Amino acid sequence: MTDHNTSTTVTCDWPTVLQRLQKVLGERSVSLWLRDSVLRAATTEQFEIGVPNLFVATWIEQRLARAVSEAIAAETGHRPALKFTIDPELFRERRAEQQAAVVTERKLEVTAEALGITDGDVPIAAAPARTALPGVNPECRFENFVIGPANRMAHGAALSVAERPGALYNPLFIYGGCGLGKTHLLQGVAQWLHRERPSSRVLYVSCETFINSFLSALRRKGMAEFRDRFRRFDALLIDDVHLLAGKDHTQDEFLHTFNAMSVAGKQVVMASDSPPNAIARLRNELVNRFVSGLVVRLDPPDFETRCKILEHKARAWNTPVPKEVSAVLARAVRGSVRELEGALVRLVAHARLLKEPLSTALALRVASDLSEERQPVGLAEVANEVAVAFGVSVAELNSRRRTRRVTEPRHVAMYLARRLTNHSLSEVGEFLGGRNHVSVIHGVKQVQKKLAENDEFRLRVESVLSRLDPQA
Ligand code: ADP
Ligand code: MG
Repeated sequence: MTDHNTSTTVTCDWPTVLQRLQKVLGERSVSLWLRDSVLRAATTEQFEIGVPNLFVATWIEQRLARAVSEAIAAETGHRPALKFTIDPELFRERRAEQQAAVVTERKLEVTAEALGITDGDVPIAAAPARTALPGVNPECRFENFVIGPANRMAHGAALSVAERPGALYNPLFIYGGCGLGKTHLLQGVAQWLHRERPSSRVLYVSCETFINSFLSALRRKGMAEFRDRFRRFDALLIDDVHLLAGKDHTQDEFLHTFNAMSVAGKQVVMASDSPPNAIARLRNELVNRFVSGLVVRLDPPDFETRCKILEHKARAWNTPVPKEVSAVLARAVRGSVRELEGALVRLVAHARLLKEPLSTALALRVASDLSEERQPVGLAEVANEVAVAFGVSVAELNSRRRTRRVTEPRHVAMYLARRLTNHSLSEVGEFLGGRNHVSVIHGVKQVQKKLAENDEFRLRVESVLSRLDPQA
């Protein structure tokens, strides 16, 4: 819920901000990325900047946002959040050229906003319209999913479910590391059903939205309505259900929704970064329900598949990339298809901006930039991911408390911090509740021992590892 009362309008001359930016970023950069931008609305809380397309928006967000913020602060004395909105009218001529890059950059994750709701709520199952599904990326269809040995099972299961919802594998539970195509498959099912069964009501929703929806219904005592809304759908595709870890009340409600759906023979498909039994603090009833249909795993694609994926994307963007060039990227980026796509976007953008051909030399440069830029993982990130996966709070991890519920995740945080960061034993111990290096050595040993003995635990730790570092 945004609070509009605290923000006031700010007067700001945008061209002057751009001039300031020119001094910092150079004329070329500003002319390439910011020339066509406009300031749509300005308050102390937020500046809304119109840009021609998503490619530009992403570029600015990822690389120029800090400079833009500084310039705004220098000009107005405020540090508002930046929001970019897309307005194709701003840049008609260059649109075609950039369209290719834009396609990949579309945000996949459903947000409450994308669903057209403001209160963390889900929409009422509306009369099915043939328009795009809310929160679903139109590119994430089965037709655009490249099949290889690592994802053949998951793809096949998703397709069967789409063809015969409620009949075969119900629920279908897909799990795997970050950026491997879980959301793509869920949205593929959603779009297939939407197209092939026009009368069916389909909802794709992230678990986060489900959780927020539930909490907001609780607050305003609207539980009956909340239940009714979800249960009106014929198929429910719920993404990132590992986020249920430790959320006891939401789990209860999830179970109700789930039972209601299955009694009615409606299809449920879920995605998660770890298998049901490895989601921490998930009620047994839910684990049992989740495994009662089919559980399939997505693995990272092999080299061949990575090459095919690159080829497929390049074709979709109308930018043929020579085989030996995409092979350089496929060799350099192994863990996640999302990163692989990012590498291709960057290769194509570089070639265009530098007016260079798509050569192996350029690909090698892109690959080496990527590996240099790969942000080293920090202690806070490790703690955050571990906390989410184990259903505890970061504060608990960093506390002196020594109940088993928190010591185990704390040990995992120690183990992962040692594996992924360059922090010393004492630094890690200090961060995790002011402990000494001996406690960290002990924690790491405990984890190593348990990893060898307990598959469930190993899967859970691996899923956190792949979130923190898809290349690991
Ligand atoms: P996850 O939900 O597992 O983190 P996504 O489904 O968001 O991953 O996939 C990340 C990106 O990679 C998306 O753009 C998706 O379209 C793409 N992708 C993943 N797997 C494939 C595949 N097998 N073929 C084509 N594109 C893929
Ligand atoms: Mg996803």
